[in-house]
Amino acid sequence: YRHGEASEVAVPTPAGTVYFGEHHPLVITAGPCSVENEEMIVETAKRVKAAGAQFLRGGAYKPRTSPYAFQGHGESALHLLAAAREETGLGIITELMDSEDLEVLSNVADVIQIGARNMQNFPLLKKVGAQDKPVLLKRGMSATIEEWIMAAEYILAAGNPNVILCERGIRTFDRRYTRNTLDLSVIPVLRSLTHLPIMIDPSHGTGLAEYVPTMALAAVAAGTDALMIEVHPNPAKALSDGPQSLTPERFDRLMEEMAVIGKAV
Ligand code: PEP
Ligand code: MN
Repeated sequence: YRHGEASEVAVPTPAGTVYFGEHHPLVITAGPCSVENEEMIVETAKRVKAAGAQFLRGGAYKPRTSPYAFQGHGESALHLLAAAREETGLGIITELMDSEDLEVLSNVADVIQIGARNMQNFPLLKKVGAQDKPVLLKRGMSATIEEWIMAAEYILAAGNPNVILCERGIRTFDRRYTRNTLDLSVIPVLRSLTHLPIMIDPSHGTGLAEYVPTMALAAVAAGTDALMIEVHPNPAKALSDGPQSLTPERFDRLMEEMAVIGKAV
């Protein structure tokens, strides 16, 4: 069980340092599943910034189930994220799948995301543990809480103390109505087991935009430290995860709804 105080993860961004942790205000990460082109990423960045987000998310390297599905624009997408960062001052969170891309991705990312499918890619965990950027570690879709915490330990043990845990839904037996089962019980459980900051991703957690706001609000009520929300200027045309992406208008409304609940710090 946890010993001692909650740790905080301090992330320098162009607009100032953002702190993740139990004793800090809620941190919002929003943006599209994939970086598709300059116009959409810059437009989305401006919209989520105006709504109050601190970080822009967007995939350059995408872990798609099918090798024939859109794989992300890779390095060129990183340059577009850099442009959006420059334009808005938002911090950038983007996924690393292959340690070969670590250097180029680190030039742009303020937080490096390790996706659900790589939660137990131990060589990759050791690599991000041996560098300085904070790491967002998503829960594997079938990972127990213990396996998830041990994956975080790989990063900590390699020398990087700046790890944020992100629940993104676990495999469900009922795929008919939701993509995953968002396990919000991890919020109190992780609080008692670890000192690390907690993020909830209701977008992958439910798979359907109409359920995202409800679960985001529930996560805030339960005390999450941060949220990750997929937002796309035109979800129907998205190259990945359109069905679970909020429009910027719906995201604006969610931010207002969340302000009412707030986070006890
Ligand atoms: C994502 O954040 O777009 C993503 C692929 O997430 P996960 O690894 O949780 O599936
Ligand atoms: Mn996605």
